[in-house]
Amino acid sequence: MANKWVYMFSEGDMSMRNTLGGKGANLAEMTSILGADVIPQGFTVTTEACTQYYEDGRKINDEIMAQIMDGVKKMEEINGKKFGDATNPLLVSVRSGARASMPGMMDTILNLGLNDDVVASMIAGNPDPTFERFVYDSYRRFIQMFSDVVMEVGKKYFEQLIDKMKEEKGVEYDVDLTAADLKKLAEQFKAEYKKQLGTDFPSDPVEQMKLAVEAVFRSWDNPRANVYRRDNDIPYSWGTAVNVMPMVFGNLNNDSGTGVAFTRDPATGENKLMGEFLKNAQGEDVVAGVRTPMPIAQMEKEFPEAYKQFLEVCETLENHYHDMQDMEFTIENKKLYMLQCRNGKRTAPAALKIACDLVDEGHKTPEEAVAMIDPRNLDTLLHPQFDAAALKAATPIGKGLGASPGAACGKVVFTADDAVAWNERGEKVVLVRLETSPEDITGMKAAQGILTVRGGMTSHAAVVARGMGTCCVSGCGDINMDEENKKFTLAGQTFTEGSEISIDGTTGNIYAGLIPTVDAQIAGEFGRVMAWADQFRTLKVRTNADTPADAKKARELGAEGIGLCRTEHMFF
Ligand code: ADP
Ligand code: MG
Repeated sequence: MANKWVYMFSEGDMSMRNTLGGKGANLAEMTSILGADVIPQGFTVTTEACTQYYEDGRKINDEIMAQIMDGVKKMEEINGKKFGDATNPLLVSVRSGARASMPGMMDTILNLGLNDDVVASMIAGNPDPTFERFVYDSYRRFIQMFSDVVMEVGKKYFEQLIDKMKEEKGVEYDVDLTAADLKKLAEQFKAEYKKQLGTDFPSDPVEQMKLAVEAVFRSWDNPRANVYRRDNDIPYSWGTAVNVMPMVFGNLNNDSGTGVAFTRDPATGENKLMGEFLKNAQGEDVVAGVRTPMPIAQMEKEFPEAYKQFLEVCETLENHYHDMQDMEFTIENKKLYMLQCRNGKRTAPAALKIACDLVDEGHKTPEEAVAMIDPRNLDTLLHPQFDAAALKAATPIGKGLGASPGAACGKVVFTADDAVAWNERGEKVVLVRLETSPEDITGMKAAQGILTVRGGMTSHAAVVARGMGTCCVSGCGDINMDEENKKFTLAGQTFTEGSEISIDGTTGNIYAGLIPTVDAQIAGEFGRVMAWADQFRTLKVRTNADTPADAKKARELGAEGIGLCRTEHMFF
């Protein structure tokens, strides 16, 4: 048989992640555990097809395209609608999905399959004015996303047109625009497309499909995705899959909506449903901040049936995956549809709490729970952190790169010598510099934390701070620095020598004033997980004995002895 490039959701499962990508494998898995009724049934174009696309010189070959159109045919049969048909049109989303989750890194196109004819006949078939509004809302979204994602016409042109329309109509939100406004916007968008690209907006759904799948494959190689891959050790060779599935419409009316949720709190790990929801909205609206979403609990009042079903879905998914789930869903006419699930990303404290809870709830063995935790993540817990209650009350005034983890607070100093002198007087200081250089080392050592205006994650300050285990926020370009006069301004506040400041080297956040810090401790859930790790590990952990302080700290944190002593360091 020829290569199989396309799998219906009903043909796949979780074990096929390498071929179907994470999103595709989970859509297939959800289909088998929740039922085809809850997951709009579509298909996945494999990651191998992506690799083939690049091998063929960035082209989708005929064999792949034929299998895609075959998938469309099957999707039409399952859903009882026809792609590109004017009377009973099937509209689809075309979504990226790599093996490893890369949230928001690649591209998605919604409402594909619309054109002037489809729009006209949809409206003719349903005289309800809210329906007309919905059709034009979907159409303008499609033109906007297609232009941006597929043809790479910047988003801003379309956003400007929306803003202008809202201003003309004197309304604040997209939802306040009428059918006539949205119709006009769709026209303006098409005109903008022609102005930018010199050609008409493609009206043939098959052509739209081909261009969209190509765009998703191409997005694997976009700069955002490349940077994310490099930071997360994801090989370029993996490629992305493409998921094509029928649209469900959260923007249909006020009985519809869309949301995202976590089965447990990703910040603290607390076993409590967390999430946000927007009525009469589509796709990215929740995260894009077009309106303020409501907390998920409020959905209970608005959509009692769907909410109850959603709680059941959450439980089923957790019992199946045995891990905290991050989910996307849509409600169309009060009916719930699941569009995505994956093991949710979480903070280090949440990872520990969830690991312990999953063991207590019988989902995981201690050995499995230990293996769930990313050791790189724990690094942040081995450094001082802000007191949680004090942090809650504080608002950041700026942000740089979280270049070296931990938290610090102290008085601002501007030179390495001042850092040493103030430190000798018993003051805690944060060294603030345009950038640091090798002669600043002693001052960097004397400081609780380091804040720089310039430089990235590999700048001198960042590299040296990480080596010393000192908190560092680098590259905060918003700081207006006057090193000569020992002052700087940030967010309208002026800081001089001795001003109080706090910085978080994990998040990159900068705060005015002192936020007290607490020292690292291997206690509570951290202690429990490390004790489990001690039962299974086959490596012994020993420490360097370069300085008494380091050796003592290492023993406190569980090192079993001295592994290395470099006499030259003592001579230094
Ligand atoms: P990302 O990987 O950036 O999250 P997604 O492919 O998940 O991108 O899609 C972006 C948004 O569009 C999500 O909110 C998703 O729920 C929504 N979406 C995707 N496909 C559909 C569909 N068939 N019907 C309705 N909404 C969809
Ligand atoms: Mg998503």
